[in-house]
Amino acid sequence: MNTIQIKDKRFAISIPEKDILREVDRVASEINRDLEGKNPLFLSVLNGSFMFTADLMKRVTIPCEISFVKLASYQGIASTGTIKEVIGLNEDITDRTIVIVEDIVDTGLTMQRLLETLGTRNPREIHIATLLVKPEKLQVDLDIEYVAMHIPNDFIVGYGLDYDGLGRNYRDIYTVVND
Ligand code: 5GP
Repeated sequence: MNTIQIKDKRFAISIPEKDILREVDRVASEINRDLEGKNPLFLSVLNGSFMFTADLMKRVTIPCEISFVKLASYQGIASTGTIKEVIGLNEDITDRTIVIVEDIVDTGLTMQRLLETLGTRNPREIHIATLLVKPEKLQVDLDIEYVAMHIPNDFIVGYGLDYDGLGRNYRDIYTVVND
């Protein structure tokens, strides 16, 4: 299945599952090496990162905890810039080592908002792990330590990411075809 149609848009496969998993493997190894002994709390940002979180956590072998938060700021295929609330964070993160697990950092505004919110709750340290970064779009200065892949500034779906709610279930990543 090299191309897919979702509503009005056509998408072509751009990152096959095996390439994704190779990079997820590498990121997990880096985390295992760096955060050993810190009992990190992974905070997975739903919905988009559910598949990345599952594959990453299967490869993280150090003692750790996982929880899930929601923070929606994106509609259609253009970042709205409107930032919504963080919901679902019930854990006490005081003095904890936190790893935010995101699907994609685009402008970085979502991540910045999340860092600000978590920062007020006195964590020991906050690390960022993201499946994807679009470096051309980044508007804020972020220290993103764990990145599976850098991609061009094109709209993508699959492997957890959606177009209008659809496409999250594909195991590969697809890029929109402009025609
Ligand atoms: P930012 O605040 O960094 O601009 O946007 C981050 C959020 O926008 C991501 O968590 C994701 O939900 C969404 N996003 C950014 N780029 C894409 C993309 O190419 N495809 C999809 N499906 N979502 C994207």
